[in-house]
Parts: sequence; structure tokens; C-alpha cells
Amino acid sequence: MAKAEAQEAAAGEIISSDPATGREVGRVRKQTPDEVRQAVERSRQVFHMWKTTSFAERRRLVMRAREVILDEMESIAELISAESGKPKGEAIAFEIAPVLDLMQWIARSAEKMLRPRRVGIGLFGLLGRSSRVVYHPLGVVAIIPAWNYPFSIPLGEAVMSLMAGNTVVIKPSELTPLTGVKIGEIFERAGFPNDAVQVVSGAGETGAALVEAAPDKIAFTGSVATGRKIAEAAAKNLTSVVLELGGKDPMIVLADADLEAAANAAVWGAFSNAGQNCASVERLYVHESIAEDLTRRIVEKTGKLKIGPGSDPDVSVGPMSSERQIRIVERHVDDFREAGAEILTGGERRADTLVRMSVASTRTSANCEEASVGTDDLAGGTGDADRSVRAPLIFEPTVIAGATNDMRPMREETFGPTLPICTFVTEEEAIALANDTEFGLTASVWTRDIARGRRIAERIEAGTVCINEHLYTHGIGQTPWGGFKNSGRGRTHGLEGLLELVQPQHIHTNRITLLPDAWWMPYSPTALETFRGFATKFATGSMLKTATLLPQLWKRIKELRRG
Ligand code: NDP
Repeated sequence: MAKAEAQEAAAGEIISSDPATGREVGRVRKQTPDEVRQAVERSRQVFHMWKTTSFAERRRLVMRAREVILDEMESIAELISAESGKPKGEAIAFEIAPVLDLMQWIARSAEKMLRPRRVGIGLFGLLGRSSRVVYHPLGVVAIIPAWNYPFSIPLGEAVMSLMAGNTVVIKPSELTPLTGVKIGEIFERAGFPNDAVQVVSGAGETGAALVEAAPDKIAFTGSVATGRKIAEAAAKNLTSVVLELGGKDPMIVLADADLEAAANAAVWGAFSNAGQNCASVERLYVHESIAEDLTRRIVEKTGKLKIGPGSDPDVSVGPMSSERQIRIVERHVDDFREAGAEILTGGERRADTLVRMSVASTRTSANCEEASVGTDDLAGGTGDADRSVRAPLIFEPTVIAGATNDMRPMREETFGPTLPICTFVTEEEAIALANDTEFGLTASVWTRDIARGRRIAERIEAGTVCINEHLYTHGIGQTPWGGFKNSGRGRTHGLEGLLELVQPQHIHTNRITLLPDAWWMPYSPTALETFRGFATKFATGSMLKTATLLPQLWKRIKELRRG
């Protein structure tokens, strides 16, 4: 528990504090594993009622929840900003607006998307058979999000789950617990049945208790290390999981790109939310002929960004969310320096903004273990009494030239405001560099030649590849979101995301029961000959070839009817 331990929390409490000021935002009580189990049980009870509600009723409630959000938009944005540190404008533009859009879309479309559908079954249809697929909800969906989009990610996943007929238990991050509680209140105010959406508060162990409680699906967003643990724990109950994990997303700028657009996008893609985006531009590959021009524009634009608390409307880059996260950024920038890359702008923690910070971390993801520090590690520590120190949490937006893929920070997720730039000569080289990573969440290609951009996009190993855009497609709820390689499993959003939240049931009908099936028992030499015909004629899918099987089929059916 990073910043929460800065204040004197009573046993079993989490105190949420503003990373820009250290001010306490509020506190929540941690739920015990037993309470988490009970929450899942209550969720399952209410599921049996909720799954029978009509799509019209679900739609009405989701649209009502939208109104509640719009009513409270300013205070919700302030809460998100206070807990996560992001500028209030980002909370509105990149959390509230996209989730409102997702809500109206899924409320209106889920019924159509989940309508029972007839499936073509080829030559079986000639035998009087037909097939339909109907979709059933799964039951209880456990949502375990990260802290960087504490509102839009869990809320969007909850709404999609509810529209599919599931009930929901959310375990927010310990860094943003009040935003999680607010999500529960929104559903309550909208009139959802009691316990249809529950929020259980706590740290990693509360998340683990939720996984242990055997929900019917887990939608997890977070680090690769925690995702692995969750997948392992979920396997014990055969609970299926959607994993939305880290990224090291490349931006490829070809020689014919619109440089001004690419420079603006690189700055926004790398530094919005202080770089704490799973789909941030973490590596920029630019054609050597335009590298100098693009880099100059990026450095100029970065120099104009105002840095400070997220509550200031002129601030573009706010504080980072936790001490351990800023430590990772510092380590990566040091690594770049040592490896010979050049820091063109930024590169330092801002000592002019002091915040009260905890130095102990109970969080256990791999990169965080490396980043957690002891009380003595930071100058100005106030000692063991409250285990806190005063340390700045703002890291300057940092542009780095001369990066190469063999440098360590080009291979690990930074999740902070750094933009390393690397050059390439050929298209093949750019693609190889972009794919040279364990991650594959998103990527972008910048070119005026759209056909070429698409060709390159299809060769990049990532769940989303944009041409002349970067980062924002999580905000388009209609499109699937998820990673290749270690960036995840499964999808949220879009039809693909909705289908993760239901189980398809195949209903197969035979309208002709007068004749026995040729494959029924007892078997015989005639049966064997018929089965050969199935393999060599029927299984070709050709009506003509199957027609030549008819005499043999008739012989077999007569045999069966004789008994
Ligand atoms: P973590 O993996 O540390 O935590 C994610 C969530 O899991 C938190 O709610 C955390 O709780 C909880 N948790 C921790 N341990 C356990 C456990 N053993 N069992 C169950 N739950 C547990 O990730 P971060 O919060 O640090 O998030 C940053 C990561 O998330 C980055 O790698 C980023 O790329 C990724 N991310 C991916 C996105 C995507 O769409 N692919 C979107 C956003 C972020 P607590 O916080 O209370 O410890």
C-alpha cells in the first residue's frame, strides 16, 4: 500500500491521498476474505433474478446510470484527479466521456449483438437438421482494475457485464479506492437491484480473495506479474479470465508522415496521464531522414507543457500515482543515460513539488518489488512514526535520443513520462524493431500512404494498430481491446469483448425422425462402407459427391430399420 500508509490508518482501513499534495481524500474499510466470499455469494443470488430481466430494463437502468454520472460529472472528475493525480480535464476527456459513450452504445446494441442466430451447417441441413446459437450470461463477473483509469475501465467492464445479464463484484486498486466506491454508488442511485454491483475494498490480498471466491469470470487489468498470479489462482476453479496487461507500444514514423501531427501525437501519447497508460508511446521509431526535424518539434512542444497538480486547469502533466512508479521511471532514465542515450529534455524528478509519501509497499508485482523502498532511502524521511517521507512525485516529461533496442528500458514497461527515440532506415527494420518485444498491446504507423500503413500495420504483433493515430482507441467502445503476446488474453469492448461475458449454447434440431441416423448402432460391414463414404464424399462438402453416396446410405438405413 503505497500512498495510503502515509497517514495513520486504523487497522483494516485504507486512506486515500492526493499524490500532488499528500492531502487525505478519504478512507475506506478493507473487506476481509470472508466478506469478499459473502459478496460473491450475494452476487450469485441476485444473478438468478438479474439474468431474467429484459434487455429493455437493463438498458433503462444503464441509461439512468449515465444521467447520474452527468449530474455528478464535476465532482467525479475531481475525485478521479485527486486520487490518481491526473489533470481534471483528462479525467473528463479520457475517462468520463468515453465511458458515457460506451454506456449508450452497449445499452442500445447488446440485445442485437446477443440475439440468437442461426448457424449454417452445410450438408447436414439436407438431412432436416438446423442449428441455432443462443447466449447465456455467465454469472458473477469479478473486475480487478489498475489505478491508472480507475473510473472508466471498471465501470465500462461492469456495464458490459450487466447488459449481458451478469452481476458484478469490483475490487478497485488500493490507490484509488474512493473512485471504486463511487462506481458502486452510481449503480445504486440509478436503481440497480441491491448487490447487482458490489465494490469490495482492499489491497492485493482482497483481489486474491475475490479470485479465490470462484466467480464465473475475472476481468483483470494490471501488470503481467499479477496477471500471471491471477491466471494461476483462477485455474484452480477453472474460472476463465480476461487479462489486460502491460505494453511497450511502438510508434513508427515513416519518411512521408505529417511531421507536425506525428510530433503532437507523440507528445500526447507519451505524456498524457504522466505516461501511465498501458498504450502510451513507449518507443518511437523514426526514419533517419526526418529524425532531426521530428525530434526538434517534439522537444519544443514538450518544453511548453505545464507541470503541476492535476487540479490546475493549465497543467498538462500531473504527478505520478505512487513512489514506486516514479522510482521505475528514475531507474529507466538512469539506465538510458548509462547506456549512452541522450536526455534532450526533462529527466528529473521535480523537487519543487513536495508531497507526503509512504515508502512501504505491500504491492507485489515484479517491477514494483524492485521499486519499493525503505524509509531510509529517501532524504527528508520523517522516520518510523508514520512511515512516511516528503518527496516529489512529479517527473518531468523526458525526451531521449539515441535509444536502441538493446538498452534495458526499451525492453521493460516504463509506465511513466519518457519518450525514447530510435531511428531506422528500411521499412523491414522498423517492423522488426517494433516487434522485438514480449509485449503487443497497441502500436501506430505514421504515413501519408494509407495502403502502405495498413500493410505495415498487419505485420505488427499488437492487438490494435492505428494509422496516423495513437493510444485513444480504448475510448471507442465498439472496437475490441486487448493484447497479443504478454500484453494479455481475451478482449474487452466490442463484440469480441461482449462475447467474453456470455456462454454460447448450441441448440440443434432434427425435424426428420422417421428415418434412423446411418451412424447409429448396430454397426456392420454395410455401416463400415457407409462410414467410408461419409469420409470420402459427404465430408468434401460437395453436393454432387454426396449424391453418389445415396444408394449406400439407403442400403444402410434399410439395414437399420430391419433391426
Ligand atoms: P498491478 O498488477 O499491481 O495491480 C492491478 C490490480 O490487481 C490492482 O487492483 C491490485 O490491487 C490487484 N492485485 C494485486 N495483487 C493481486 C493478487 N495477488 N490477486 C488479485 N489482485 C491483485 O498493476 P498496477 O495497478 O500497477 O497497474 C499498472 C499495470 O496495468 C501496467 O502494467 C499497465 O500497463 C497495466 N494496464 C493495462 C491496461 C490494458 O488495458 N491492457 C490498462 C491499464 C493498465 P492493489 O492496487 O490494491 O494492489
